[in-house]
Amino acid sequence: MKLTIQHDLPQSSLTDLIVSFAKHFVEPDFVALRDIVSKDVSIVLYEKESRYGIEAVLEYFEDWQIRVGDTFDCEVRWSAQFSQPEIYFTSDKINQAYILDIQDSKIRRILLTPRSFSKIGFSIDEIPYNVGFIEANAPKEIEPIANHYFCPICGKNSEQLEWRTGIIFKDGPGWGKKTGLMINASICRECNTVCEVSPDRSVKHILSMTLEQQRKADEGMTAEELSHYVGNTMGNKKTLSVTTLDSHTNELSKIGMSFHSVLNKAVKDHSSKDVFRFLDKLSFNNKLPNKDSEIKLHVASHDVNSMGDESYFYIGDEPNIDNELHKKLYADPSVDAAWQIYLLFTSSTVMPVFWHGGYIVRDYIFDEATINSIEAGFDGEKPLECFDLRGLSKANLLLPEVLMSADGRTADVYCTYWNDWGGLMRDHVQILFLKNGKVRLTQIEPLILFEYDCGILF
Ligand SMILES: [Zn+2]
Repeated sequence: MKLTIQHDLPQSSLTDLIVSFAKHFVEPDFVALRDIVSKDVSIVLYEKESRYGIEAVLEYFEDWQIRVGDTFDCEVRWSAQFSQPEIYFTSDKINQAYILDIQDSKIRRILLTPRSFSKIGFSIDEIPYNVGFIEANAPKEIEPIANHYFCPICGKNSEQLEWRTGIIFKDGPGWGKKTGLMINASICRECNTVCEVSPDRSVKHILSMTLEQQRKADEGMTAEELSHYVGNTMGNKKTLSVTTLDSHTNELSKIGMSFHSVLNKAVKDHSSKDVFRFLDKLSFNNKLPNKDSEIKLHVASHDVNSMGDESYFYIGDEPNIDNELHKKLYADPSVDAAWQIYLLFTSSTVMPVFWHGGYIVRDYIFDEATINSIEAGFDGEKPLECFDLRGLSKANLLLPEVLMSADGRTADVYCTYWNDWGGLMRDHVQILFLKNGKVRLTQIEPLILFEYDCGILF
């Protein structure tokens, strides 16, 4: 079995333990597995049965490996549903995953689950819905179901959770098409969290609505009725209560906020002077003074290009300008310098844009509470209002972070932003501080926390 690890897996002690489990499982090394698995471990085989105790679980692993041989590939990747890494097994026919429930650095439960429940989603890679959304769309209570997902917060098993049933619409397949599936959902009341949403496989009840049908249905509704539907369209009802995040910042995010207000003023004044006074760890051409005369600010305008324009800092005189300032700057290695380089490098994404320049615009998450009010597109749709993002907060994936390498020469900068044509992304830029005082930037593919596209084309 081949093992791969997702390139930008969020680092934590939990991640380390899950990666070790995957390595020992793939080898396989049952002696090493014994060290990290609790004696009272259990394995939940989704919708089938549970097995209890370390001997039964290791025996199950052994049987499985003999049975499947080398037909599976294994990958450790991020599960948005559980806000922790999953161990994902793929073969030609099957996509399934292990979710590990870890307590006191030992694995106490393993859930073997299909990775995705249908063509339109309901997968462990999706951010969980919030309780209000499930209450609005799955109003009918049903008997608890055994051998399903446990509560990701307190670990209560599926029989102890509240279960509901209803219909949830999702996009696709096909543009503008909505598909509604009969679902069962479980809620942990104590943790105020939705633990699972999966299609009810005992009923083949699929509703499909084209954009045309949605429009017709919408036209027949009053404004009052429409206000009960998410995104003002037929299908899912508006969430009854929204799970919001409290105000939470860190030192880097506070610097980010101050920098963005300095940028605002710079745009108003058409001057870069205060911006480079703020970025006090950076210098250009190896000398500090005269920054203002050297570095100029272009503010996006419709005069430049009728197709669109962005704002940026540059060196030189028109038409021979250079706006790749990071290639010109000098800095001593430090967390502060790395963060200032990132803020400068991404400044175009928060300054004015014109027409198709709009694609680059980002809302940076410098206070977790601002995520509650993110709006997308032209009609003020709130794409995150049905979801519960507390897992991302708990996994430290919302506020900025700078990690210096052991030799102090490389900084990994992580920062989360919203973009209407991508969604919620965990940006990653690697900054190498060279011996000659210059820096080298590498943009690493961001981790997509919540995929979204507002559908607008400029
Ligand atoms: Zn719970």
